Amino acid sequence: MSRTVVVGGGVIGLACAYALRKQGEEVTVVDAAEPGAGCSKGNAGWIVPTLAEPLPTPGLTWISMLWLLRRDSPLHIDPRAVLGLAPWLWTFWRHCNADDFRSGRRAWEIVATNVMESFDALAADGVTLEMHRAGLLFVFLRESAMRAMLHEAGDGPAPHGTEPRIFTGNELREFEPSVSDAVTAGMWIEQERHVRPETLCGGLAQWLTAHGVEIRAGGAVTGGHLDGRTLRAVRTTHGDVAGDRFLIAAGARSGLVSEAIAGVPLPIQAGKGYSITVPASKSRYRRPLYLEEARLAVTPFEGGYRFAGTMELSGINERLVSDRISAIRQSAQRYLTLSAGEMTGIEWVGMRPLAPDGLPVMGPIPGRPNVFVATGHGMLGVTTALTTARLMADLIVRGSTSVSLSALDPGRFASR
Ligand SMILES: Cc1cc2nc3c(=O)[nH]c(=O)nc-3n(C[C@H](O)[C@H](O)[C@H](O)COP(=O)(O)OP(=O)(O)OC[C@H]3O[C@@H](n4cnc5c(N)ncnc54)[C@H](O)[C@@H]3O)c2cc1C
Repeated sequence: MSRTVVVGGGVIGLACAYALRKQGEEVTVVDAAEPGAGCSKGNAGWIVPTLAEPLPTPGLTWISMLWLLRRDSPLHIDPRAVLGLAPWLWTFWRHCNADDFRSGRRAWEIVATNVMESFDALAADGVTLEMHRAGLLFVFLRESAMRAMLHEAGDGPAPHGTEPRIFTGNELREFEPSVSDAVTAGMWIEQERHVRPETLCGGLAQWLTAHGVEIRAGGAVTGGHLDGRTLRAVRTTHGDVAGDRFLIAAGARSGLVSEAIAGVPLPIQAGKGYSITVPASKSRYRRPLYLEEARLAVTPFEGGYRFAGTMELSGINERLVSDRISAIRQSAQRYLTLSAGEMTGIEWVGMRPLAPDGLPVMGPIPGRPNVFVATGHGMLGVTTALTTARLMADLIVRGSTSVSLSALDPGRFASR
């Protein structure tokens, strides 16, 4: 039996470890911190395959990119980081066109198919997690914004599942009493679900430990021992870890880890997001809400609720900027009937792993036959973790996958 060493115990790494173990592989997970403590912790937890699409969208102009420099913008580029980010931003901007967006949507389909079935199978397999089937309600200050979104969706591929249900005025407030009078329209996508992300990572880690997977926490991977093109072991701050195959799932740091252990850098950046988790014995929200113009998610859990949002490009760091948290509070108060006290809780920042073309990066590292990567899941890592994991396990253990991963191949960055 061969051993795969998974570098990174976020939702992607843990899910891959699970799928590898299910295929009979010996697995070791190495994480610089505790498993599930990175971006996979304080996110919104939505399982939303309907929303799978690349981040670079058609029509993003230099003018709108400049707007991103505003400090209170939900999408924000830190001016101090622009120079370091320039090559990444340039590639990102080159993908802001209709053709790349269309092919990007098709590429996302690779990991956005059979998502709910995968979560059902995980629960049936004994992984305990908090999962809800409450759909997802988009709410809008302007009805015209909803109409525009519906019009756009009409041009895209058929959404998974049923048509959205539309609400306006009082009908909306009856359906979701937490929204304020400023909200004029809503659109409910019934088939979407959500999980409490901490329970997903916790449940996976528990299952892995019970099934013989070694999880080594608190040891950062800093380098590798290459024997020609073959990686024999990774070097960590707690000693070497040997394996037959290696999978990099280190989130926003995957590009850095790939360079350190395999000598092959990858252009992965951090799209920083923030959240506030408010404890409450009973959530005042009946279902997850997306405050559309503010790009803010509100998720009810058992014992509380979470506000999550913002996309900040400021390099790879976990600095929590309090302006972003204030902006979240201000936006939420426009849409919801709540007091400041109802927005006080645990403040969190996480780094979404982002490739400049807005697609996942999944496959073998060029020139390193026994090193693989699974990252770049951006805003959809929770949604697509299990489908990613199944494909990666097939690739690593069997050498092939049921669908082609060529659109997601890490080699696409090799000549750039
Ligand atoms: C505000 C916000 C809301 C979001 N909401 C949703 C949502 O509703 N639905 C959804 O699908 N997605 C959502 N996401 C995205 C999702 O959280 C991410 O895509 C996902 O968590 C990425 O998982 P990951 O395993 O790739 O990275 P991470 O969770 O960051 O895990 C990477 C792991 O690698 C480890 N690591 C890094 N470097 C090293 C090293 N050198 N050595 C060893 N270990 C290392 C880290 O310690 C970490 O544990 C959201 C993100 C944010 C920020």
